[in-house]
Amino acid sequence: MQIGILGGGQLGRMLALAGLPLNVRSLILEPAAEPCAGHVSPVISGEFEDYQALYKLACESEIITYEFENVPVTSARWLAERKPVFPPPEALAVAQDRLSEKQFFAQLGIAVAPFVAVNCREDYEAGIKKIGLPAVLKTTRFGYDGKGQAVVRNAEQVESAWNRLQGRPLILEGFIPFIRELSILSVRSRSGEMAFYPLVENVHREGILRQSTPLDNVSPSLQSQAEEIARKALNQLNYVGVLAIEMFQTGTEATSSLVVNEMAPRVHNSGHWTIEGAQTSQFENHLRAILGLPLGSCELRGYCQMFNLIGDIPPLEKILGISGVHVHHYGKGPRAGRKVGHITVCGNTQKERNDRSGHLLSVLDLL
Ligand code: AMP
Repeated sequence: MQIGILGGGQLGRMLALAGLPLNVRSLILEPAAEPCAGHVSPVISGEFEDYQALYKLACESEIITYEFENVPVTSARWLAERKPVFPPPEALAVAQDRLSEKQFFAQLGIAVAPFVAVNCREDYEAGIKKIGLPAVLKTTRFGYDGKGQAVVRNAEQVESAWNRLQGRPLILEGFIPFIRELSILSVRSRSGEMAFYPLVENVHREGILRQSTPLDNVSPSLQSQAEEIARKALNQLNYVGVLAIEMFQTGTEATSSLVVNEMAPRVHNSGHWTIEGAQTSQFENHLRAILGLPLGSCELRGYCQMFNLIGDIPPLEKILGISGVHVHHYGKGPRAGRKVGHITVCGNTQKERNDRSGHLLSVLDLL
């Protein structure tokens, strides 16, 4: 069995690796030279709009998936006329545009930040009147890791945000005073079977995810709120594969509710801990889902926490002596702000995990 993967970054690399024990081989389509997924899988080098390359991928793959959400929807639809493509291209179309994404969740009765479309200065000013400050101005497309957005807190920032982002389709959102950021990783298979990982708490700095911790004492009501949100989205899209939904938790711990920020129709950075920390990793469950195999358990195996390695890989001798530490080096070159690897810290008890993470953080500046 060979699957095609659009995108050759670390997500493609970890998907390809997860396939090997199931004898699922991968074939990657990637425009960039020397993709890191190419270390573990053959690569077709070509643009995502290169129809010769897409044709070759379709001919040589039984099922096609993606690890990159900005694949052109027209290419995904073209492939879907030839081979099964999962998740459905419709999910890509929704997720690629922040406006359609907000509308999608709002129509399902799921809470999102108040929002208005901003296509000109008049829209912007009317939006600020309607939503109030603070607010967040974002490009509707191609924003990631905090890029393409600006927080607007006062009159001065009204101007600076506009000057920085104008000229592209924008969305103005109300600023959500969250107590923490969470994500839920869910998976739905071709048979309609669904499974949900425990909620994950995420810490960002400079717009980049630094730390993800699955909640090991999550309140059942918060978990079921999140699962209900994911279930509605999965069913509405007739989704197949892993879907990640990022949310803000608001209110107090006792009276909290969830406000959806965005979704990613693919395996997700906030689920990397599942490789060592869950009964079944998100990568394996994504493959099981698209192959129509029974899903694996999403339960925790003990306690864990993930830290991203941003910019460069630290000397391994500094960290591999710490028990319970698992290093994932993506084989990418160093660059400021680039995700080049991650570390998952595991323990048999919460205290053991916390002590090990504390030790790691005393030798590396990760947060
Ligand atoms: P995004 O690109 O939408 O994932 O946003 C990146 C980060 O900016 C989020 O993880 C939040 O920390 C923050 N952020 C984005 N939108 C909002 C919002 N409406 N209210 C408060 N914080 C936000």
